[in-house]
Amino acid sequence: MLAQSYQSLIDRLAADIPQARLITDPLRTLAFGTDASFYRLTPKVIVKVENETETLLVLKACRELKIAITFRASGTSLSGQALSDSVLVALGPEGWRDYHISEDHNEITLGAGILGAEANGYLTPYGKKIGPDPASINSAKIGGIVSNNACGMASGITGNSMGTVLGMRIIFTDGTVLDTRDEDSRQTFLAQRRDMVDGVTDLARRLKEDADTVVRIRRKYEIKNTTGYSVSALLNFDDPIDMLQHLMIGSEGTLGFISEVTFRTLDVPGCKSTGLMLFPDIARACEAVLLLKDCQVSAAELMDRVSLRSVEDKPGMPSYIKSLGDTATALLVETAADDSETLQRQVDDINIKFADFPMVREFEFSTDPEQAEALWSIRSGLFPSVCHSRQKGTTVIIEDIAVPIDQLRDCLLELQDMFDQYAYTDTIIWGHVFDGNVHFVLTPNLSDPTEIEKYKTFMEALADMVVDKYDGSLKAEHGTGRNMAPFVRREWGELIYDVMRGIKDLFDPDAMLNPGVIINDDPGAHAKNIKPMPPAHELVDTCTECGFCERSCMSHGLTLSARQRIVIYREIIRLSASGQDPARLAELKKEYVYYGDQTCATDGLCALTCPVEIDTGKLIKALRHDQLSLTTLQIGSQVARRMGAVTALTRLGLSLLDMAHSLLGTERMQGLAGGLRNLSGKRLPQWTPAMPTAAATVKPPAGNRPASDPVVYFPACINRSMGPARGHGLDSLSRTTASLLEKAGLDIVYPDRMDQLCCGMPFASKGLNETAANKAGELGEVLLNVSDNGRIPILCDMSPCLYHMKETLDTRLQLFEPIEFALTYLAPRLTFEKISEPIAIHTVCSAKKMGLETAFRRLAEMCAAKVVTPDVICCGFAGDRGFTVPELNAFGLRRLKKQLPPEVSTGYSTSRTCEIGLTTHSGIDYRSILYLVDQCTRPKS
Ligand SMILES: Cc1cc2nc3c(=O)[nH]c(=O)nc-3n(C[C@H](O)[C@H](O)[C@H](O)COP(=O)(O)OP(=O)(O)OC[C@H]3O[C@@H](n4cnc5c(N)ncnc54)[C@H](O)[C@@H]3O)c2cc1C
Ligand code: SF4
Ligand code: SF4
Repeated sequence: MLAQSYQSLIDRLAADIPQARLITDPLRTLAFGTDASFYRLTPKVIVKVENETETLLVLKACRELKIAITFRASGTSLSGQALSDSVLVALGPEGWRDYHISEDHNEITLGAGILGAEANGYLTPYGKKIGPDPASINSAKIGGIVSNNACGMASGITGNSMGTVLGMRIIFTDGTVLDTRDEDSRQTFLAQRRDMVDGVTDLARRLKEDADTVVRIRRKYEIKNTTGYSVSALLNFDDPIDMLQHLMIGSEGTLGFISEVTFRTLDVPGCKSTGLMLFPDIARACEAVLLLKDCQVSAAELMDRVSLRSVEDKPGMPSYIKSLGDTATALLVETAADDSETLQRQVDDINIKFADFPMVREFEFSTDPEQAEALWSIRSGLFPSVCHSRQKGTTVIIEDIAVPIDQLRDCLLELQDMFDQYAYTDTIIWGHVFDGNVHFVLTPNLSDPTEIEKYKTFMEALADMVVDKYDGSLKAEHGTGRNMAPFVRREWGELIYDVMRGIKDLFDPDAMLNPGVIINDDPGAHAKNIKPMPPAHELVDTCTECGFCERSCMSHGLTLSARQRIVIYREIIRLSASGQDPARLAELKKEYVYYGDQTCATDGLCALTCPVEIDTGKLIKALRHDQLSLTTLQIGSQVARRMGAVTALTRLGLSLLDMAHSLLGTERMQGLAGGLRNLSGKRLPQWTPAMPTAAATVKPPAGNRPASDPVVYFPACINRSMGPARGHGLDSLSRTTASLLEKAGLDIVYPDRMDQLCCGMPFASKGLNETAANKAGELGEVLLNVSDNGRIPILCDMSPCLYHMKETLDTRLQLFEPIEFALTYLAPRLTFEKISEPIAIHTVCSAKKMGLETAFRRLAEMCAAKVVTPDVICCGFAGDRGFTVPELNAFGLRRLKKQLPPEVSTGYSTSRTCEIGLTTHSGIDYRSILYLVDQCTRPKS
């Protein structure tokens, strides 16, 4: 039962915000109760807002009802600032996505919901980028990046949001909207919000009155600092609106809502050179940093010996890392310039300066992108490596301090001593040392109260050292959150802290925005609301709940994301083990069937963006397997044993449906099928006009001919059953492919007993693991035989099946799906003539996982003069889920139609089932790319 005030909130919002975006159920509120920090707060209500009007409504209602709210962008914050136990206002997936680039490309205006990496994607054609560059840029949204003043390796203290912001659209708690780029808006604000204008001017005056304070603030911002509010804004600007705008940066959603930001763009350097400097110890490395400060260096990343050791056994690591001494420390150095002559001068300068500097290995710069990538992979492998190797049930805490770089050496030596003293073993230190900033990772088991106490005393000791000894920053990049809130007064002292409190009171007099974050009177707040991380399943135990998988998870926004599936599953396991709250456990389990299982596409795309490569789809498949009844297992195995009959039956069923379609017409057929599906309680599959007709049967010639240029063609069972949609006027794919192969002069060899064969993927996706393994084993044996133990290449006409075959079959087999096969075997043998009409392509998930996106585009561009690639994560058809859970497919393709120019009438893909959904939701025909290759090629003369 919701408390009265929250129910009133829902009632008030219900008229203007769709029900689907007002969330109160126990499963989803828990799912949103996590960010990338080690805290958990479960919101009472989640409101997904898509525009300013809705945000204003929520702010007004919450203000009047005296309800606290927290804004959420991507929820990748590390200090617990994106959490709420009240109302979580999340940026909805459809709004906040407008952007504009100025004519000279020197400015970009971005909606709060655009990912940092997307912004850079818009700017790439102009050789530009945005300044803020957190390591999480692929997942973090502009609203979160600016509100955390997030930055990374290259931005330093000038390229971050604070240094590059030109304007902002802000909504304050009373509903005032200020657009700092608009003169009218500025004037109106100056007239109507005298309280804020005078208040901020007064706070600035208080700081400026004290000369020592001014000096100290300026000095503290010479290194990175995100502890407390950005008080430098009060010193650096005279205009009160400029002060307000800059105070919003790094304010972590505690002062107002940012809906749009304009940044000055930065040049992407034309060339760069990278090298790894290896020093005998951390002290020497820190001395080297001081020397590098006088050189043109764009990035300098320190990695201590424990860091290097954590990755030295990983594939692709340079072999010399392993043989380094116990105290060795690395600096990964990059220098960049617009042209190669300047770059060479910079490299020479560094080489001269370091000619006599003691290093344990000769140092060399390289402009080879592969070498640079290999060196950067050392750095990017550190965090995943720690996550992987930590003990089950432990938490990953990333701390983030900065000290003046001339004191970095002493600070790091002391920090290493502290790790020994607190028995934090294997604690890695790395960081952007040019800004005096280092990160370190602790992995305590916080389910143990003594570990929490130890963490608390460690944090006190850390504060003693960083603040009292070095006057450094307790949070350099990651924001204060609730993790460092109890230490803000300690770091800044009474006067400045008092001004910070004044800022909060001025902007948010009712203390309704993100309470407990930045300003928090509870000295123990950093050790409260700790998130349980029980071992739950070996497939997901390394998950840190960072949220990087959410952008590649197609069900994120419909039901749960990959991260949220893990969060709920962990809670189910925790409740099951503890015996606590059986009613809640039962409810979570019941709801997880739809939210966790049925709406997971099990496409595994989450693994592509997860630092520790977790495929949450595998967890779901494992759970499906565990839940199967004996009857289902038996039916599955019967089906597998009679594949020939099953494909024949499917063809018959599709023929009957097609007959009904032709008799009734599309409209009546749709009505009838929809009615029957409703009557069956959604148990009958959904019918759409894009439904396939029956495929023509594949009849291999009796006895395989001896072949001179052989290729094994294995038509997938789906293509052996499903033909083109009604009215497409196409032959079946297997016949078209066969004629295409013959046109290319290839001799087709079909596998024996082809009718019976299946890769096993349809069974595996339902959790029928044993049946799937049997089918894969059977196929593997036949293919080895027919391909002469892997000598002859094998083409399978469905990418998902081929991917499954690659995962399960003998590695001697040369397995190809249509894209790679066409480029490798057809392109050299055929002449391509581009068709003039524009086409669309869709790379299916399995092809993405095989890294074939660019290859697909290349192939398509060989065939058509214009190729459109709509941005779709995954179509969500998910094998046969498009028939049974059609809303998943509709959600996956909700933006497809809008992205297709009217002149495009045909789309191409490499999976028959995905094509059904793509056709249904795009309004154009999608079919296999092999049809197009056949259409636009002729034999080479
Ligand atoms: C593995 C890992 C690596 C990371 N590396 C870095 C790094 O290199 N540098 C770095 O700085 N950070 C880093 N982070 C932390 C985090 O990713 C960044 O701070 C990021 O910018 C947060 O963006 P987000 O979209 O996830 O915002 P969220 O976490 O959703 O929100 C961040 C804050 O902004 C507030 N907020 C969100 N949207 C708005 C809005 N529209 N208006 C007002 N307030 C809003 C929220 O209330 C919250 O306080 C890392 C995190 C992880 C997990
Ligand atoms: S699955 Fe991977 S990407 Fe997703 S939250 Fe867990 S660790 Fe992060
Ligand atoms: S398998 Fe797909 S739908 Fe399922 S959690 Fe992973 S990305 Fe999301």
